[in-house]
Amino acid sequence: MEKEISDIAIIGCGPAGLSAAINASIRRKTVDLFGGDLCAPKLQKSSIVNNYLGYPNISGETLREKFLGHAKEMNISIQQNIINSVMQNSYGSFTLRAGDRDYNARAVIIATGITVDKLIDGEREFTGKGVGYCATCDGPLFAGKDVAVIAYTGEGVEDANFLMEFCRRVYFIAGDKKVFNGLKDGIEVIEAENIQAVTGASSATGLRIDGRELAVQGVFIYRETYLPDTLLPGLAVKENHILVDRELKTNIEGVFAAGDCTGKPYQLAKAVGEGQVAALNVLSFLNSAARVQ
Ligand SMILES: Cc1cc2nc3c(=O)[nH]c(=O)nc-3n(C[C@H](O)[C@H](O)[C@H](O)COP(=O)(O)OP(=O)(O)OC[C@H]3O[C@@H](n4cnc5c(N)ncnc54)[C@H](O)[C@@H]3O)c2cc1C
Repeated sequence: MEKEISDIAIIGCGPAGLSAAINASIRRKTVDLFGGDLCAPKLQKSSIVNNYLGYPNISGETLREKFLGHAKEMNISIQQNIINSVMQNSYGSFTLRAGDRDYNARAVIIATGITVDKLIDGEREFTGKGVGYCATCDGPLFAGKDVAVIAYTGEGVEDANFLMEFCRRVYFIAGDKKVFNGLKDGIEVIEAENIQAVTGASSATGLRIDGRELAVQGVFIYRETYLPDTLLPGLAVKENHILVDRELKTNIEGVFAAGDCTGKPYQLAKAVGEGQVAALNVLSFLNSAARVQ
């Protein structure tokens, strides 16, 4: 059976991702648009926006509803799935993994925003060596072991419950948003003021919080936004921003990026504009790829 494949997978349903999806749909491309529990969470937090052309003094929530309403009117559906990883296939397409589901696309636009939560010391160093972002993907490697879950989103609760099914001990540390509801019995909740560092030598062996060392072999971290290069290994980044050219191409052919994830200014108009530019350049990429096949 042939694999289902869309023209464009767009990761992120904030202003940049929505703008890319609308522009690609107008040009009759098939789009898979992915987002977390809440689309455009930053817009929801913004009480008044006064610099978006045509909408003086509008509340962030009202503008957010207008953006989502526009997508709905164009029959663009949003898949509430966090993409955990993107793999480049040898035959010029991409596979995106969300939990235990795979999606295929000819091109990818990354519009994941930027994380406002500070990275933990040692997090980058031990990514893939004990630090992970998806229990469905990496959890089974820690069967019978002790792990810690650091959750800034509700997804962390779900994954802590999953890890509890086969890990020896699961510690749960809520980030600043203090999400705990729905944790299974047996998970040890730790109230932490200061999550200091992932520690270890060749792989993670501990988590330092509030000056004490928790002995764990795995640390799973859940934020609203992934670090881009942990999503797609080999993606060129500088100071957590994806490096792009003026066409919003990344260093990986067929992968484009738009919005806050490409750098400052972190502003709506830039995000919406880049979403459009990325979508139009993906169209040129798809057309030229079709010509050489
Ligand atoms: C409090 C506040 C007030 C602001 N006020 C203004 C203002 O007045 N004017 C202005 O111009 N700008 C303002 N901004 C900035 C503006 O909100 C951002 O620049 C804009 O939202 C960026 O859009 P984006 O699409 O790049 O990213 P975001 O809006 O951050 O959207 C990213 C989306 O991607 C999703 N996502 C992330 N990772 C994944 C993944 N792996 N899989 C699937 N989905 C994923 C997230 O859930 C989110 O929905 C404000 C920001 C804040 C926080």
